[in-house]
Amino acid sequence: MVQTAPRVLEARRFELPRIGPDEGLLRVEACGICGSDCEQFEGVLPVELPVVPGHEPLGFIEEIGDEAAKRWGVRKGDRVVVEAILSCGGCRLCRSGRRHLCQADGKRFCAYAYMPVSESPSLWGAYAEFMYLDPRSVLHKIDPSVPAETAVMYNPLGAGFRWAGEIGGVQEGDTVVIMGPGQRGLACVIAAREAGAEHIIVSGLSSDARKLELAESYGATHTFDVDEHHLVDEVAEITGHRGADVVIDVSSYAVAPVAQSLSLAGRGGTVVLAGVKGMKEVPAFVSDLAVHKELTIHGALGVTSSAFRAAIDLIEAGSVNLEAMHTHNFPLSQAELAIRTLAGEIEGEEAIHCCLINSESPPHPVEDT
Ligand SMILES: [Zn+2]
Ligand SMILES: [Zn+2]
Repeated sequence: MVQTAPRVLEARRFELPRIGPDEGLLRVEACGICGSDCEQFEGVLPVELPVVPGHEPLGFIEEIGDEAAKRWGVRKGDRVVVEAILSCGGCRLCRSGRRHLCQADGKRFCAYAYMPVSESPSLWGAYAEFMYLDPRSVLHKIDPSVPAETAVMYNPLGAGFRWAGEIGGVQEGDTVVIMGPGQRGLACVIAAREAGAEHIIVSGLSSDARKLELAESYGATHTFDVDEHHLVDEVAEITGHRGADVVIDVSSYAVAPVAQSLSLAGRGGTVVLAGVKGMKEVPAFVSDLAVHKELTIHGALGVTSSAFRAAIDLIEAGSVNLEAMHTHNFPLSQAELAIRTLAGEIEGEEAIHCCLINSESPPHPVEDT
């Protein structure tokens, strides 16, 4: 499926590439869909069109060159997930261990789902039957017995481990506030509980009732509907006016939580900003609160390999009921419906986690007709 314009997806056929010694070809089994897919569909991301979207791939190695097989430690037929970012490995950021922020190509973001079809071999996204595996790819093997819709959760869960664990530094006994109970927020709940947080407080809107219930099943100790409750007062009460150790904003578009995060955090606390707001300014942002409490304010965008690995380990262990978060499967041909369902555009459908599944993904390349 190729995005040719904002809100336009169409089916197209491409020739399969010839695979060299340091490349591979993935037979896509499923692709997770997140808020970024909705933004990409709307056309608000800086992506050159036409493009094959899909940055959360799960699949089987269909073809692989000898050098790639050695470097990635995989063989033909292995089931893998693929990190979206294609980092150079040699720039200042990559060399300092921040490969997920690679900016070798200065102007544009090199990642699956972001490379236009004009760039050979076109198959840069997972809304497809096959995806090209570039030499810069980072792959992780995943147990073939895990259901596809659960396996693709390596992406939201990886974000939880990165944002709550690695960036937020959640520790045993901490109080964590998570604003926004979508798939990323729920993943942060899971990661915060794994890290041993004592209080996990999740906020959402009255329309998020089901998600807040799910947050409780994943370990949230308190959930608040901010249409009914004053979150700052509630957190003050729970913490005996100390405030939270870690505050994570994963709400999208709403800017009030950003200003509020400074009141929610306690002395020496950490605020993790991971929800994008459509480049809106934040009113009532009182920076003195950050000074007086010596807060750390940290933006969060990507996911590291270590966080992906933690997510995959949790998925394979099967210790958390991730299926409960998964709400919708769609075939590839219904990619548009999948995006619109996650975006809440389809009346009567409350989506949390959606994915595309190629149930009949062909074992061999399909000839163009
Ligand atoms: Zn995503
Ligand atoms: Zn780099």
